[in-house]
Amino acid sequence: DKIKKGLSRTKKNLIQNIESVIVGYPKLDDEFLDDMEAVLLSGDLGLATTEKVMGKIRQGMHEGKIKETGDVLPYMKDAVAEMLTADNEGSEEVMHHPEVILVVGVNGVGKTTTIGKLAAYYRNQGKKVLLAAADTFRAAASEQLTVWAERTGSDIVKHSEGADPAAVAYDAVSAAKARDVDVVLIDTAGRLQTKVNLMSELSKISRVVKKIIPDAPHQTLLVLDATTGQNAISQAKKFSEVAPVTGVVLTKLDGTAKGGVVLSVHEELHVPVKWVGVGEAVEDLQPFNAREFAEALFE
Ligand code: GDP
Repeated sequence: DKIKKGLSRTKKNLIQNIESVIVGYPKLDDEFLDDMEAVLLSGDLGLATTEKVMGKIRQGMHEGKIKETGDVLPYMKDAVAEMLTADNEGSEEVMHHPEVILVVGVNGVGKTTTIGKLAAYYRNQGKKVLLAAADTFRAAASEQLTVWAERTGSDIVKHSEGADPAAVAYDAVSAAKARDVDVVLIDTAGRLQTKVNLMSELSKISRVVKKIIPDAPHQTLLVLDATTGQNAISQAKKFSEVAPVTGVVLTKLDGTAKGGVVLSVHEELHVPVKWVGVGEAVEDLQPFNAREFAEALFE
């Protein structure tokens, strides 16, 4: 399926390297463990996640569940699925009416495309969707969003270039309430270079949205580009300082061998991966499913 295909490069890199360590070391000795650790690190799992996986392998050895090197891979699959499952399920469910979703991320990560795909996803469920073009910094962003609104049959609220993003968000959420909309997706500018500005912009958006719906925004989704590997993690850490991120969308998993970064998001940011992008087509955004992901990776 899509996830399997999307992860093929990651699988090729990470799993084949794990397998060659397994084949290379018939014995479960320290050298084997050292090499395994090196392979995980080079597979973009990050230090914290690698240590956790290695801890699980040692535990498996200690408990007698791993008796020989050949037992490591199936054991790892279960351990990874378990690590990811902790709080990753039920991702796409919409609990409010309307559900207000703020979408953040730096330019180029696939933010606009992700909003378009999310709109299509909810439209396919028969939901009424409204897009808010609150990235007023780039005229192209609003144009691109307009195309997605037309393509998915969603409403759109936009102002002229340079307008106050919070004013757009306010109008969008008011319109959503008036028009009985189910899901509001708010696009935001991704200028992380000016952290202070971005922080005040995002908090102003939240503040005005709360004037209409006190518990909104209900989700703040951070879009990250998987092809940037561990850099995506440091970007995410910076974003967490400017906005209360509730979930991550990891895009472009199909174009990278660095899919191990999924595990890192979970372990290092303590934020669940909600969605994964595995291609450019509209149906190539999928709710993240830990078990499916682990199976696609390890089977
Ligand atoms: P933005 O600047 O963050 O809004 O980025 P865009 O939405 O314009 O996307 C940048 C590029 O990434 C576009 O060419 C998209 O088609 C592409 N893209 C987005 N998501 C994915 C994905 O999951 N897989 C692939 N292969 N390309 C993607």
